[in-house]
Amino acid sequence: MPYLEFFNPVEETLDRAGIERLQLERLQRTVRHCMNSPFYRERFAGAGLTPDDIRSLDDLKKIPFTTKQDLRDTYPFGMASVPLDRCTRLHSSSGTTGNPTVILHTKRDLEQWAVAVARCLWMVGCRPEDVFQNTSGYGMFTGGLGFQYGAELLGMLTIPAAAGNTLRQIKFFTDFGTTVVHAIPSYAARLYEVMCERGVDPRRDTKLRIMAIGAEPHSEDTRRRIEEMLGVKAYNSFGMSEMCGPGVGFECKEQNGMHIWEDYYIVEIIDPDTLERVPDGQVGELVLTTLNREAMPLLRYRTRDLTRILPGDCPCGRCHKRIDRLKGRSDDMIILKGVNIFPIQIEQVLMQFRELASDYLITLETIDGNDVMTVEIELSDRFIDDYAAFQKLERDIIRSLRDEILVTPRIKLIPKGSLPKSEGKAVRVRDLRKQY
Ligand code: ADP
Ligand code: ZN
Repeated sequence: MPYLEFFNPVEETLDRAGIERLQLERLQRTVRHCMNSPFYRERFAGAGLTPDDIRSLDDLKKIPFTTKQDLRDTYPFGMASVPLDRCTRLHSSSGTTGNPTVILHTKRDLEQWAVAVARCLWMVGCRPEDVFQNTSGYGMFTGGLGFQYGAELLGMLTIPAAAGNTLRQIKFFTDFGTTVVHAIPSYAARLYEVMCERGVDPRRDTKLRIMAIGAEPHSEDTRRRIEEMLGVKAYNSFGMSEMCGPGVGFECKEQNGMHIWEDYYIVEIIDPDTLERVPDGQVGELVLTTLNREAMPLLRYRTRDLTRILPGDCPCGRCHKRIDRLKGRSDDMIILKGVNIFPIQIEQVLMQFRELASDYLITLETIDGNDVMTVEIELSDRFIDDYAAFQKLERDIIRSLRDEILVTPRIKLIPKGSLPKSEGKAVRVRDLRKQY
């Protein structure tokens, strides 16, 4: 692999033994540092543990998990491992249920975060000559500032366009020669729709070539659609505020799973019921331990995201473990008539139909004492308006959905543009049953 393919050649090309050596050293350092946080001091005392008990990577198992609830309970600063005057940034989640959560960063944390993001972007071919446009909100949502600093560090010309104002985004593409875009997948589809409405052909009228898409679950077909529509290569980007934000995991050019930077994080996959680790290849809850954080390191943080470690080596030459496309969060799971369903399963089916556009909405309601799922889906331009075709399409979708999710949903095919568009992560499920 040529040296120039790597942003951090040393860290990116470590072999397994090298990664594990570095991880142990950083884990021991992190655990010792965590003793500055009242929360972890108490946790360790409660478990009868001291930092000296962590002698091998396997000893990680002795450390209790950290949960989102712990972050809420210690709101705002109870998890900090440094005094507040050493912190230079705070990100906070919205907190629709209970207290919001706070993540603190030191200057070094922010620098290291930028390196991780720059490494991701470099890995997929971004170079200083590129022009990078970020369509994420710049505020508490870490996809804004997180990508901004990473892209600047890499040396691209950056356009902090921020969320929304689709016409202006497109004007920037054409006027400033944007080559790389960061967008959530649902917004990528929206950009294309508006381009079509305005007669802008992404291949003819823009220089777009690379897209980072992430922050919400999406299927392989959705990715392929984005690539076809916009004439780009689209790479899955994974992150969360608790782990800084973007830059935790990113696909390489092979597009076969997201490498998690193991010099920054230890990855575990656990069975959410037994809390035991599961073997590589098996789906479970992703648990991450930060190895490179000062202000607020987190040990064995339960992300609630469901995925699996992809077994085997990646041809790109990086040994950093890869995780599969996320299935969703454990709390996204829909239980309908006793069957467990993830919204992404529905998306996978829908996106195989070229007559359908990218937007859909799942509504769950109780009608005459029965729980019913209705899926509203926008039709795409490929749909030929004809009653027989309409009926056949409806039947085919229902059959495919039933095969996948084992319950029979109602389908509503609706004209393009009918569903409400959100500027942030798309809302895919409305559960009206909860009101009963
Ligand atoms: P919030 O928790 O408010 O959504 P975050 O920005 O921290 O804010 O969201 C992180 C979550 O977003 C992850 O835990 C995961 O559920 C989801 N997510 C992030 N990136 C991806 C991705 N590439 N694919 C699927 N889901 C993702
Ligand atoms: Zn790879």
